Amino acid sequence: MTAPPPMALIAELTHRCPLQCGYCSNPLNLDAAKSELATEDWLRILSEAAALGVLQVHFTGGEPMARRDLVTLVAHAAKCGLYTNLITSAVSLTDAALAALVGAGIDHIQISFQDVAAAEADRLGGYRGGHARKLAAARRVREAGVSLTANFVVHHQNVERVEAMIALGEALGVDRIEIAHVQYYGWALVNRAALLPTRDQLDDCTAVVRAARTRLSGVLTIDYVVPDYYATRPKACMGGWGRRVINISPSGKALPCHAAESLPGLAFPSVREASLEAIWNRSGAFTRFRGTDWMPAPCRTCDQREIDWGGCRCQALAIAGDMGAVDPACSLSPDHHRMAEAVAEASGDSGAMTPRRHA
Ligand code: SF4
Ligand code: SF4
Repeated sequence: MTAPPPMALIAELTHRCPLQCGYCSNPLNLDAAKSELATEDWLRILSEAAALGVLQVHFTGGEPMARRDLVTLVAHAAKCGLYTNLITSAVSLTDAALAALVGAGIDHIQISFQDVAAAEADRLGGYRGGHARKLAAARRVREAGVSLTANFVVHHQNVERVEAMIALGEALGVDRIEIAHVQYYGWALVNRAALLPTRDQLDDCTAVVRAARTRLSGVLTIDYVVPDYYATRPKACMGGWGRRVINISPSGKALPCHAAESLPGLAFPSVREASLEAIWNRSGAFTRFRGTDWMPAPCRTCDQREIDWGGCRCQALAIAGDMGAVDPACSLSPDHHRMAEAVAEASGDSGAMTPRRHA
């Protein structure tokens, strides 16, 4: 049986990264450089993705610019007719690197900012001078006429500067601003106590984003991603398991979402051994939580089940201890109270975090 094709391929080219963000969504066990897929593997995957019906490829990591073959891969994706997006910290996006990417046909670049205050941004990213490099890179991207998104990851330690973040995005002339509260997987789960915003911080942030959206309507788009810990209904994680996205890890594991490696008992197929088509349509990993048949009560009969698709399996495992449970972000989950408990534990934390480091 075949499923509708994925819309997007998330190509995690490497887990190497010069930054050390304590909220990084990469897994705690980062893939070593020597285990990464070869150039010819990625070229084949990109061709297979286009043949499968994928429309967009998001080159990400770690830091995708750490791969010497990035320009070759972008050029091949463009030749295959895929819309190409580079998700980068931009600390190495020099004039020459940008010119090569433009020549290869890059369609869109997303630059992540750790903060708007340079000293804080450099502290959070663990990279001195990084913020200044990002600003210079963002200006270069705009001068080159490439579509640009500024992504600000917000949390307890920087959320009070969200208004200044939006102002920075405007000043840079970006096409889209993403204000994304940390999602608590990977390193962010380890550092949750230092990162979770208070309810007042979240409410203030939401009010600022709302006002900016009204003011900038028709000028630029502001996407807003909130933390699940104050929600009463979960998000449709990845648009539903095995519905819209296929994620390939640096070593070639095919995952329904970038955090899925944390789920026990699921054998994630390798693109070294199977085609994307076979993985998408027939692998146990992709069919396990696809659709609604797998759902527990009360999801099974809930009128939201084809809207949120039962929420996030990684969050169900992390909070409820069972990847098949109702997402605890849902107020109908018997584990919903654990979200409030995590918030209570987080308040008053000193702010110290375990930095994400690649060996
Ligand atoms: S979140 Fe930070 S550490 Fe993780 S890949 Fe992005 S820039 Fe690197
Ligand atoms: S019960 Fe299940 S389907 Fe219904 S809102 Fe909650 S998580 Fe979504």
